Amino acid sequence: MPPPDAARYATIHKARSTFAVAPNLLDYGAACAAFSWDRARKDLSDLPSGGLNIAYEAVDRHARGPRAERVALRWIGKAGERRDITYRELAASTNRFANALQSMGAKAGDGVFVLLGRVPELYVAMLGALKAKCVVSPLFSAFGPEPIATRMEIGEARVLVTTEALYRRKVEALRERLPKLDCVILVDADQDGEGTLSWRKLTQASSETFEIQATDPQETALLHFTSGTTGRPKGVIHVHEAVVTHYMTGLYALDLHENDRFWCTADPGWVTGTSYGVIAPLVHGVTNIVVEAEFDAPTWYGVLAQDKVSVWYTAPTAIRMMMKLGAAAVKDYDLSALRFAASVGEPLNAEAVVWGMEAFGMPFHDNWWQTETGGIMIANFASMDIKPGSMGRPLPGIEAAIVRRNSDGGVETVSAGEEGELALRSGWPSMMRGYLHEEARYKKCFLGEWYLTGDLARCDQDGYFWFVGRADDVIKSSGHLIGPFEVESALMEHPAVAEAAVIGKPDPIAGEIVKAFVALRLGFDADEAMRKELLGHARKRLGAAVAPKEIEFRVNLPKTRSGKIMRRLLKARELGMPEGDLSTLESDER
Ligand code: AMP
Repeated sequence: MPPPDAARYATIHKARSTFAVAPNLLDYGAACAAFSWDRARKDLSDLPSGGLNIAYEAVDRHARGPRAERVALRWIGKAGERRDITYRELAASTNRFANALQSMGAKAGDGVFVLLGRVPELYVAMLGALKAKCVVSPLFSAFGPEPIATRMEIGEARVLVTTEALYRRKVEALRERLPKLDCVILVDADQDGEGTLSWRKLTQASSETFEIQATDPQETALLHFTSGTTGRPKGVIHVHEAVVTHYMTGLYALDLHENDRFWCTADPGWVTGTSYGVIAPLVHGVTNIVVEAEFDAPTWYGVLAQDKVSVWYTAPTAIRMMMKLGAAAVKDYDLSALRFAASVGEPLNAEAVVWGMEAFGMPFHDNWWQTETGGIMIANFASMDIKPGSMGRPLPGIEAAIVRRNSDGGVETVSAGEEGELALRSGWPSMMRGYLHEEARYKKCFLGEWYLTGDLARCDQDGYFWFVGRADDVIKSSGHLIGPFEVESALMEHPAVAEAAVIGKPDPIAGEIVKAFVALRLGFDADEAMRKELLGHARKRLGAAVAPKEIEFRVNLPKTRSGKIMRRLLKARELGMPEGDLSTLESDER
């Protein structure tokens, strides 16, 4: 059966004569046949002291060469203030921070957590910590205290870089849960405080020369958090070798060229914002545009025009918000520098791909990957004919398949057009190396040579992949992956709550919103005041990005005989879909 979107929109053909710049990936078949990861690695420099270090590839090798005076980061602040930081300056400031970390006793492998908005110190802290061979874990600054503390507990944070306000509001009260946290560095504090250090004092006192020590490519570099259906968030381990994937995907999926100005709109608190908002553009030595403000269409169009962005990597929720305002709103801006627009993170509607043509004169190029894969795996690359609604084709070096588990406990690939689980043959450099302290959960992701992604998809006869849905209960809201268990646990902390179940409810802009079903304890009234109280409680604990937007009260929640709440049934009922197999349903009072 052809994917539903395929029939509705014609394929967008790319005539070679229309390319303003020859795409890096012109001959897909030849590139795939000739590709090897060893060869890709040769395009990078080895670390002078030995091995491979992400920060050396992203910063120092440019600072020591002809790109030294090129703008590495163009920072545009919330109030419109601007700062250009060259590769030479970025090398110096990251060196200072690496020295500062070492002077505080931070060692290779220590966890450095960064809880900041998109300010220059975020980039300096991440790259400086990588130079010191610490393990960097960026946290989304819109998280509430609970997700922050949980992740810092799991990741055994030793250092936290944040602001005075974020620290006071979100971390200070939970510090006793973090016994290993011995340095809190505040980027906006002029003086050291009780249990906190001033970034300014620390970095000013540190030397701006630093030699990165030999780094085994298999040493842990990054710890990103992701969520599953059950249990606490998973700490996804990535190693320095991941930079080879960041480089390759920057080249082929994002089509980065020497003089590009690149803008990735994702926050580094999520994996896209790290792999493509920090690492890939810098590894390519291009100018990386950083916009501190949240989405606002005129601001965004202004950045695209004024800063002559040539390659733009954004997300479906933002595209849908722009669509709502209409293509006419774009016409006042000179976007002639824009050459390539890509999208990631959640399903990109076929309409949105086509709308890109109307508004920007080019389709949005959807691509697919996840925290565990560390980099883009499947993409609509620049030279490729686009079937609107498809995620594209696997990049060179990536083998993707649609598989089904068979009765022998193995997997078999399904025929073209059939639905199954999206699987990738293991072995690319940015593949996760584990879930921290969760070996069993990690092992469950693999069957033989295949890494099973947890996504359901189809592959058509032309080798294009089409997203169908998730195989589990995680929620994608505005591109952010949210684990239902984390939200349910926060709701359960409230004394009025007896049971809670959380689902993703389809939303035309955000993709899904978090909706909670709650059964109250005896003696509490399921009224409007209680709904507001619970929404407020969840928002305070979890932060706005994670908290439920809707709460519906139930007398109790449908459960299996073993007592597990059936989220799927709640979701099916919410959507008016078939309820499926109810043979295990034990109790259900609506
Ligand atoms: P995360 O680990 O937070 O980056 O989320 C990864 C998940 O987001 C994937 O497993 C998919 O479910 C979803 N996702 C990412 N990119 C796409 C895409 N292009 N189309 C559909 N879903 C996507």
